[in-house]
Amino acid sequence: MEHLERRWLDHAWSIVACDDQHALACEGAGGAGMPGGTTARFPGFVGPRFEPGKGVLCMGHVHRFLPDADDIEGGRLEAVESAVLAWRARGRSEANDVAFLRDSRAAYLTSAPTWDYWKRNYEPLLRKARVPLEEVAFANVAKCRTATEDDSAASMRIARVCSAAFPPSELVRLLRPAAVLLASLRLDVGDVGDVRLVRWNGRTGVDERGYTMNNWIEIEAARLHRIRAR
Ligand SMILES: [Zn+2]
Repeated sequence: MEHLERRWLDHAWSIVACDDQHALACEGAGGAGMPGGTTARFPGFVGPRFEPGKGVLCMGHVHRFLPDADDIEGGRLEAVESAVLAWRARGRSEANDVAFLRDSRAAYLTSAPTWDYWKRNYEPLLRKARVPLEEVAFANVAKCRTATEDDSAASMRIARVCSAAFPPSELVRLLRPAAVLLASLRLDVGDVGDVRLVRWNGRTGVDERGYTMNNWIEIEAARLHRIRAR
């Protein structure tokens, strides 16, 4: 394993093995954990060819829980959940860490590109900037799941509770990506230093200045391409 992967696994473990106190706060804010009522949460993934200064960190709000699509056999997050729950149950060891990294990564790399959310938000810019998925990392600001809408008060509450326990800026410092792509104008990811932060409304694609994705995507893709070529 690479040094970066080890550090990411430490970060991921703090989320997967989060304590009951945080899980209760999450639930109080409207979040839910894994199926089966464990406190385990979703740390996201880091791609196999992610490198500091070159890799791209995609950040979203929270895993939207769609019972019809999720809590079924072959559901969107089923393989991710199995990897998380298996790691939590087995605990940490070199072999268990390697297995989790492999299984959760494979699960996300298969699942994420099929989400409408992924296709609408990250895929267009990643494609234009020629960033392969293997060089991408992904994490939601909130580590739980929720059935509430993106822009609801509950979603913002969950993001606040989770950010306090797992500050997004810490993940940015750990990964040192070429850029953070944030599909939200309302989330606060804290101080990310000189890392390029590209953000837009995750439902409409409109950026802070009011431009639609069609209008800003070429410039941001060119910029990201330049940063990665350095
Ligand atoms: Zn949480």
